[in-house]
Amino acid sequence: MMAAASTLIGTVVVAAARTPAPPPASPAPAPAPAAAAPAQVALPARYVVLTFDDGPDPVHTPQILDVLARYDARATFFQVGQKVVQHPALTKRIHDAGHSVQNHTWTHADLRKLSARAFDQQLRSTDRSITAQTGVLPRCVRPPYGAMNSAVTQRARALRKQLVVWDVDSRDWTKPGTAAIVQRVLAGVHNGSVILLHDGGGNRSQTVAALPAILKTLKARGYGFRTLTC
Ligand SMILES: [Zn+2]
Repeated sequence: MMAAASTLIGTVVVAAARTPAPPPASPAPAPAPAAAAPAQVALPARYVVLTFDDGPDPVHTPQILDVLARYDARATFFQVGQKVVQHPALTKRIHDAGHSVQNHTWTHADLRKLSARAFDQQLRSTDRSITAQTGVLPRCVRPPYGAMNSAVTQRARALRKQLVVWDVDSRDWTKPGTAAIVQRVLAGVHNGSVILLHDGGGNRSQTVAALPAILKTLKARGYGFRTLTC
């Protein structure tokens, strides 16, 4: 589980490391580095990845989208396929707002407990439901419950999917109170963190209420917000 997170974070950190270094104080006639970066893309020096699982939800997803828009923050939504087909316009709205929509299985299944055939059905049917709204094939899969084993890893690889977990768990689904959600995120976050939150699967009003303080504080600490595409 953590290996996949490290792989993912490693990928993102490498990208951030391409940010051009500040110029030296005195110009030196140094030769061009042999492995110069092909493109100097300005990236935030510090960033986090916000992820919202288990939606779309007709009540809480729009509220979360409104807060994200207010803070000009982008996030990644790991969606459950059977909910996507119930609320397809929400999935389209998320994508159209510049967020990333990715695969969280069709029924929120524990992927370790599936046959190979059922595994493929869970992922492919969710792919179809999302792609129908976004036009983009999800390549990230978040295994429900973070549940993985070697068979899950191999099957995901065969479908050319990247398993993505998290390193900061808000445990917002336990409804610990808004202050606790804020505190857990802000205490655990570091550069490149993947933060787990939920927009679906229950009453997420505490998550909605926690989000402004989380976004405001992370911005004040100099973090940008990046999405996952895998
Ligand atoms: Zn989930």
